[in-house]
Parts: sequence; structure tokens; C-alpha cells
Amino acid sequence: MTITYIVHPAFFDFILRPSQRTIYERSFVEFPKKLERWNNLFTIASNDKAIVTSSIAEKVLTSRQTPFTAGYIIELQFGETLIAQVDATDSWILEVYDLNKKLLEDSKLENDKQVLRFIPEKDMKVRIVLQAKLETESTTNFKVFTAPRYDFPVAGKGNAAIQSFWGASRGGGSRSHEGNDIFAPKRHPVVAITYGTVSSIRNRGLGGKQVWVKDYDTGYLHYYAHLDEWIVSEGDMVWSGDTLGYIGNTGNAKNTPPHVHFGIYKNGKAVDPKPFIWQTQAPENTPQLPLIKEAKASGFAANLRKEPSSSSAIIQDLKTEPVTIIGNSGNWYHVRTASGLGGFMHQSVVEKQ
Ligand SMILES: [Zn+2]
Repeated sequence: MTITYIVHPAFFDFILRPSQRTIYERSFVEFPKKLERWNNLFTIASNDKAIVTSSIAEKVLTSRQTPFTAGYIIELQFGETLIAQVDATDSWILEVYDLNKKLLEDSKLENDKQVLRFIPEKDMKVRIVLQAKLETESTTNFKVFTAPRYDFPVAGKGNAAIQSFWGASRGGGSRSHEGNDIFAPKRHPVVAITYGTVSSIRNRGLGGKQVWVKDYDTGYLHYYAHLDEWIVSEGDMVWSGDTLGYIGNTGNAKNTPPHVHFGIYKNGKAVDPKPFIWQTQAPENTPQLPLIKEAKASGFAANLRKEPSSSSAIIQDLKTEPVTIIGNSGNWYHVRTASGLGGFMHQSVVEKQ
């Protein structure tokens, strides 16, 4: 069967910006059986129960016989950026979907990796789908982690300097803490965390000497309070890392150790700034475990789990069921059963058939 296009679909790509999946599926136009296999593999990934709590590094395997396919659910907080990457240029499709299976973002080529970045506009659960193109053979590194959207607001400091969080009781229980308190010595520099404009400077009320910066991209306001002094003026453009002023204890902090009260406001409403600034580390690549060609679960407590961790939830005890190894993370195999169930098993409960 031959299909004749009036206008080849690629002609409109610059307007429609089709996903990599859509572009890849064009190669199946004359091969409906292959398309069906590809779509079945996608359905398997879309039903996976694996989760990522904060990050995962995995060695993933794909072959002609067993093309890699897997889904991973991750819960994102507003303020985080989701990052997923696979160390290969064109043999993998890497995407993120909402739980109603709507595509949110797919990967872009960056320095010989496929990298996916997704910025949620609220707290939400999403599903990452990693699917190898058919008829490819490779073993490669795959990682999922989150990163804060902004840099840290106190020069040279990090997570440990945040000592009072969102929601803590204030004013004897009459109000709740709408920011994070970050401690540093008096006169230590507080800095801009992204590109923006100094929208206002005030000396009044609970916050004492305060600087407000408006994020150029989003319009969110960044609030720095209890300063000893500011060194910027209203209307100044600032870049991440520029000093705005110095830590102090003005306003209602006059009897507490010097700190900056840092807040973020979206449409006039305070949001928890912690996910926006909480520093994270990308996981290291994992070494590869021995590949067992014909593997099975090994009997006693042969648990398939949602994550590569003995404290994670059990999906099912697989007893002595045959499994296919599709990857590993540390001492855990990522496996799939004949019925399509996927998850992680400790290497001690996987053996040769
Ligand atoms: Zn505070």
C-alpha cells in the first residue's frame, strides 16, 4: 500500500511543533503492525506503578526483542523544576504527562543527551515516560531529579541556613509563617535569585527594612525583610547573585538573631518559597549489574516494588515468576513480567531460570 500526501506533514512542523513521538510515528505509516506494537508498549508505560520520591539514576537496557518502555510517577511541588535525561541522542523518546495522559513536555537535544525540563505551575503528580525506539540496541544512563527554580537568596549559604519554614506558628498562633527565615551573621549579603526589577523598598511594620524584587519572567514578587540596610534603588534591574542589601534584625525581628525573612508572592498571594530555593543534587550514574538473560523471581519474598528501596511499597510478590530485566539502579533490577507489570526487585531475589 502506498500513501500519497497532498502536502507532506513535515511541511507544517515549524508551526505545529509536533512532539518527537508524533514525528517518529510517521515512520510507521506503511507498517501498521509496528505501530500497534509501539502503541502497546506506550500503554504498558502509561500503566506503570513505579514512583520516584526525589531522584533516580538507572542503567536502562533496550533490545530488538525487548524494547525498553517504562513510566515513573513523581510528585512535584510548585517551585521545583523536573529534569529527566537520557545519555543518547536519538534512539529514545522521553516525555512527561499529567495523570490524564495529556503530554506536558518532551525532551530536547542538549550536549549529546536528551533532556526534559518541566516547570509545574502548581503542586502536581506527573508521569515520566521513557520509551526506546523499536529495533535499537543500547545500554544507557537515565536520570530523574528536581532542581529549584531559583538560586539561593543568601550569598554562599544553603539549605542548612533555613531554620524556620512555611506554616510555622507566629504571633502566638494568630498567624502562620508565610516565608522562610534564613540565618546568617549580621551584615551578610542577601542577593537576587533571578533576573528582575527592584519593585519597591520600604521601612515599616513587621518586615522592617525590606526589598521587593519582581521576577522578570513570571512577575512573582520576592520579599526580603528585616534587612540592616539595602544598597539598591527602586527600578534597578538585578541579575541573580547581585547584592540587594545586608542581613539584620529590623522590624519585629529586633529581639531575634539576624536573619532574612524570605517570601514569594504569586498574584499577591504568598506561596511556600522552599521548593523555589531548596538546593538539590543530580544523582550519580549507577554501575551496571550483571545481565541475566533468562531471569525469574527467586521464591521467598520476591517482592516487586515501586522504587529501588526496601522501604518502598510492594506491588506484588512474584514468587517464582519469570521476569525480563530492563535496567538497574544500584543493587536493584528494573524488571517486567510477561503480563506487563513493571517495578524493582533487589538483586538477591532475581536468579537465572
Ligand atoms: Zn520569617
